[in-house]
Amino acid sequence: MSSLVIQTAFLGDVVLTTPLLSALAARHGPVDVVTTPLAAPLLETHPAVRQVIAYDKRGADRGWSGIRRLGAQLRTARYERAYLAHRSLRSATLALLARIPKRIGFSGGWSFLYTERRPKPRMGHETDRLLALANEAPDVYPPQLQPTAEDERAAAAAAAAGAGALIDGSFVALAPGSIWGSKRWPYFAELAAWLAKHVGLVVVGGADDVALGEEICRAAKGGGGRRTAVNACGKLTLRQSAALIGRAAVLVTNDSAPLHLATAMRTPVIALFGPTITEFGFGPVRPGDVALGVELECRPCSSHGPRSCPLGHHRCMRDLPVEVVTQAIEDLGALRRRN
Ligand code: SF4
Repeated sequence: MSSLVIQTAFLGDVVLTTPLLSALAARHGPVDVVTTPLAAPLLETHPAVRQVIAYDKRGADRGWSGIRRLGAQLRTARYERAYLAHRSLRSATLALLARIPKRIGFSGGWSFLYTERRPKPRMGHETDRLLALANEAPDVYPPQLQPTAEDERAAAAAAAAGAGALIDGSFVALAPGSIWGSKRWPYFAELAAWLAKHVGLVVVGGADDVALGEEICRAAKGGGGRRTAVNACGKLTLRQSAALIGRAAVLVTNDSAPLHLATAMRTPVIALFGPTITEFGFGPVRPGDVALGVELECRPCSSHGPRSCPLGHHRCMRDLPVEVVTQAIEDLGALRRRN
């Protein structure tokens, strides 16, 4: 008899669910997790996880037939309890079809399909709000990821591409991408030009970020600096990217999944917030990490960040200058190893 956690939200949400997994594993033993195919490899090596079941809710498993098929598969495992981290009809229906006798989720929405409802705290960090699902106190379990030795080797090779000196941990990682256009800070290239005068840098991101990574690396090389810039976008798996971020002196990122990867890998973070704010519960969580944003009446303008600025000026990010970010990097001591 075991526990199942269902979390099929965005990648960052899955990383922020890892404290809940740790708390449940400490209480009941390692848990099984249903999550997205994208996030599944991140959890496969987590010490609190026994098995990951990928649920391709928008692809091969979409629709009612996919829910029924997975529900029948989960039924054979005879789980004792299910924790529903994502308030969705899909998650609630899956646990019901799997005939899991205890179904624990947050109040509201489809919670009439649960057997136990817990209020989701309105305030606090998302990691702590998710821990409330297990009646666990905040701050006990930090977000955690565990890349393999092979992941570490791939990360080291990526960081060394073109400059072996980068693998000593003295590089800055940049994560300039976001699926929400309005969350992208527009000055990563200028930042890279400044950084390349002081320290190596690696751009991390997915296949969609390759061109942006190239542009940033070109700016680094064209800015007169002699330090190496490596574009690792699209070259690594997610776990390898986490391992690479784990080797960086600091990560500079938008309000996007790499922020949470850095938290889980215990790498200092400078997070740049535009249309969203840290009070939503998805900011840096550790003391010493930095969240930067500008005061504007229109901010925040949406919970996720719109695709583009509804007012057209995008001042929430355009008014956040490079100098503020470079000062934060200096203050964190990320350049101390420079020669
Ligand atoms: S409306 Fe304001 S907060 Fe929203 S994207 Fe535009 S500038 Fe940013």
